[in-house]
Amino acid sequence: MEYEAVIGLEVHAQLLTETKIFCGCSTKFGAEPNTNVCPVCLGMPGVLPVVNRKVVDFAIKLAIATNCSIASVSRFARKNYFYPDLPKGYQISQYKLPIAENGWIDVEVGGNVRRIRIRRIHMEEDAGKLIHDEHQPMSYVDFNRAGVPLLEIVSEPDIRTPEEAALYLKALRDIVVYLGICDGNMEEGSFRCDANVSLRPIGSRELGVKTELKNMNSFRNVQRALEFEIRRQRALLERGERITQETRLWDAAKGVTIGMRAKEEEHDYRYFPDPDLVPIVIDKAWIEKMRKTIPELPNEKRRRFAEEYGLPEKDIEILISDRSLADYFEETVRYFNNPKMVSNWILSELLRELNRSNCSPSNCPVSPQNLAQLLELIDNGTISGKIAKTVFEEMYSSGKKASDIVKERGLKQVADEGLLEQIIEEVIRSHPTEVERYCRGEVKLMGFFVGQIMKRTQGKANPKLVNEILSNKLKNSQQG
Ligand code: ADP
Ligand code: ZN
Ligand code: MG
Repeated sequence: MEYEAVIGLEVHAQLLTETKIFCGCSTKFGAEPNTNVCPVCLGMPGVLPVVNRKVVDFAIKLAIATNCSIASVSRFARKNYFYPDLPKGYQISQYKLPIAENGWIDVEVGGNVRRIRIRRIHMEEDAGKLIHDEHQPMSYVDFNRAGVPLLEIVSEPDIRTPEEAALYLKALRDIVVYLGICDGNMEEGSFRCDANVSLRPIGSRELGVKTELKNMNSFRNVQRALEFEIRRQRALLERGERITQETRLWDAAKGVTIGMRAKEEEHDYRYFPDPDLVPIVIDKAWIEKMRKTIPELPNEKRRRFAEEYGLPEKDIEILISDRSLADYFEETVRYFNNPKMVSNWILSELLRELNRSNCSPSNCPVSPQNLAQLLELIDNGTISGKIAKTVFEEMYSSGKKASDIVKERGLKQVADEGLLEQIIEEVIRSHPTEVERYCRGEVKLMGFFVGQIMKRTQGKANPKLVNEILSNKLKNSQQG
């Protein structure tokens, strides 16, 4: 029997608010344990939570960006369970009335657009963090993270392959990062994903028994975990065994998933509306206000970059992977209207320097205007492309303008035909054996001659002129 995989993702995005969701404590990462805490997020008796308006703003933005319907009235609910990192004994989440439902994200998979539906988006608080140190006789708990706001985004089981799952996740990550509501960092856990997967015979409409995978901290690991789990489930089904509904942990080092616990049922959580929090009422005006703050999103930008600049897909993917890089590109093109050349320089020279100095495009020492000026100097023949690379490095380290560096260091291209002819004749004269070999058909020696000429001009000879003059002279010596 042939099986197909059915996958649905539950994603948690930690929000970039200054303060927690129900109190005024800071959300700053990396503070001394238990310093960003107060009676509310520590779950002391008698305290009352008050919702952070920013969290609702961010949820509305994401709902708009993912084509969801926004509930005019939504509620917080208590999800009850016991765990040492959960001081109240319940997590404040949303249950029956989430803030948003019924959206979708379009994902391009192998040239086809796949629409992955989103079942719901809800707001909730994060738990604290347990610290198990094998050199200590006990475990510790840090409540700095308790009450940090999260959005949970639950997809419909519309995903069919591990690759598709990774692409959906990337698309969602790009959206939250573009919106500026989450930093999207999977390694640090501010963007995390649980993956649900089941198999069913191809053609069947029913859903099979699923397992839920946790502990994947990169796109690659989500894909690998799903690939492993699909293979594991298929082997069981082929042996006529049954799949147990359970939560499984991905072990990246071993490349396997390991059963962790039987999946809890919804009634285990004894959900009920949180009586301490008023319903969230969202009117049209609030939604419209948020809509105005939404930037051009990755999919629209992708389409526009292809149309407006005619760039290859590969270039576009890298440029739009970072909104500030895309902005940098567009700004440079505004001053120097050759999109492909600008893209080439950004993707090679600029990105290399940015990576090396750990900088972002928005605080790059070479402004778009200055990069454009450098490209102009190549374009009008003042300097060669090769020299331009060293000029660029100096621009980056000194912050100087291209034209100033070229003037200061005398890097202007030698395009004086008389002078070049003289140099080329000298080179030919001092390498009679190479000339002879060239004449006998070793045409690749052309590169050797060009190299010698560049050496004598410190790389400043105009390459086009050099090629012209050199081939003429070599042809003459062939005839002579
Ligand atoms: P649970 O009750 O186990 O939490 P839900 O119905 O709430 O399951 O769905 C949680 C996630 O699992 C959703 O993303 C959903 O699309 C996905 N999902 C649900 N059933 C299946 C299934 N049989 N196979 C794969 N994914 C599923
Ligand atoms: Zn607090
Ligand atoms: Mg559920």
